[in-house]
Amino acid sequence: MAGLCEGGALGKPRKITGRMSYPNLGDWPIGCKVTIATEGAVMERKMPFKDALEGMVNGRRVRGRRRYQMIDDIEIYGSYAETKRKAENRKDWRKLVRAVPSQDNRCRHCHNEVETLVHVLGSCPHGEVLRNARHHQVRSIIATALKDADYNTFKEVHGLSVTGSTRRIDIIAFKESTRSGFIIDPTVRFETNEEQPAEVDKEKKNIYNPTIPYYLQKYQLEELEVIGLLVGERGTATLFMKDVFKRLGIPTSIIPIVTLAALKGSIAPLKHHLYSK
Ligand SMILES: [Zn+2]
Repeated sequence: MAGLCEGGALGKPRKITGRMSYPNLGDWPIGCKVTIATEGAVMERKMPFKDALEGMVNGRRVRGRRRYQMIDDIEIYGSYAETKRKAENRKDWRKLVRAVPSQDNRCRHCHNEVETLVHVLGSCPHGEVLRNARHHQVRSIIATALKDADYNTFKEVHGLSVTGSTRRIDIIAFKESTRSGFIIDPTVRFETNEEQPAEVDKEKKNIYNPTIPYYLQKYQLEELEVIGLLVGERGTATLFMKDVFKRLGIPTSIIPIVTLAALKGSIAPLKHHLYSK
C-alpha cells in the first residue's frame, strides 16, 4: 500500500508506504489530503483531526482513555491549535481535560454518589429536567395509543389516597362502555434483572391502589387496575410490556417506539452530564 499526502499550505507533498491498514498518520499534517492506493482500489480523503486521534496512529488504535470523550473535551475549548498550545503547559491541560474525576469516583456534579451510569441516568439532580422529559415522552406515546384504542384517557391527574395523602397518577384510561379501566404508571428505570418488571408493577400497585376508590368515584367507574410498567432506560423491551399492551388492546408494534424514546431520552442526560458544567 502506498499513500500520498498533498500537503498544500500544510506541508510538501509526501509519499509514504506502510504495511498496516492505515499509513503512519502520526507523521502527517492534520487536514492534509490523503490518497491511499491499495490493490487496485484508490481511496482519496481528507484526513481530519478526528481520524488522527481516534483512528490509527502508527497503524495502531490509540489505547488508554476513552477516545471520543477525549476528542470532544478538546473541541469544547476551541480550536485544536489553541488546545495544543495550552496542552504544552501541564497545569493548563489538567484544568482543560477532566474526563474522569481524578480525586475520587464520586459524581462530578452532585458529589453525592459514585458516578455510575445508574446514577447519571436515574438519580443525578444535574439531569433531572431531561430525565422528566424522557418520562413525559414515553407517557405520551402510551397515552396516544390508548386514545387510538378508544379509551377515555387522562394524564397527570391528582387524586387522594384512602389515607388522605395526595398522589398524582400518570395515566388513567377507561372504556365508556364497560366503565372499567386502568391506572398506568410507565417507569423508565435502569434494567437490572428478569424479575424487575413484576417488581415495578408490585411497587406501583402498593403506591396507587389506595387511590382507586377516589378515581372510581371521580369518573363513576366500576373497576380500576393499577399497572406499573417498566421501560428500560437503555431501551429494553420486556415480555411484561408485550402482555400489558395485549391486555390493553393497544398494538404491540408501538413497543420499539416506546423503547427507542426511552433510549434517546437517556442519551440526552448522559451527554448533558459529560459535557456541561
Ligand atoms: Zn450526580
